[in-house]
Amino acid sequence: MNGKGIKTRQENELLENNKLIAEFMRVVFHDDENQYYNAGGLHIGNTLQYHTSWDWLMPVIERCLVGEAEQSEEISITTIKNIYEGICNQEISFAYKSVVEFIKWYNEQNRFICGVCGDHVNEYTYNEDKDVDECNKCK
Ligand SMILES: [Zn+2]
Repeated sequence: MNGKGIKTRQENELLENNKLIAEFMRVVFHDDENQYYNAGGLHIGNTLQYHTSWDWLMPVIERCLVGEAEQSEEISITTIKNIYEGICNQEISFAYKSVVEFIKWYNEQNRFICGVCGDHVNEYTYNEDKDVDECNKCK
């Protein structure tokens, strides 16, 4: 064994975190092609680069900050402040770490996944006609 294909704990964590972000961004992985596509169906490559590229990370940050006013004060003064700090200091690893923290928190608050739009939501209702769980927006 030469260790090829075996990932270190750190690499695994990075991969897990990138997958978490990808899910948050509705990025889809096509198994057959081994490629990622964004929510708009655009091909974005075969690796996730949120940890190395501001071009990748900035849209995620924008999405985190949408509806910031609705977020709890606690997350605003900690994680969101850290995201801003990462941007200001051009420290992508710090911003990245804070984004991951935010998404973990966000997913915890919004434990349900809408069967129509795929959004993480804090409540949904079952639609008998369509046999699907819908969020309030999709109702
Ligand atoms: Zn929905």
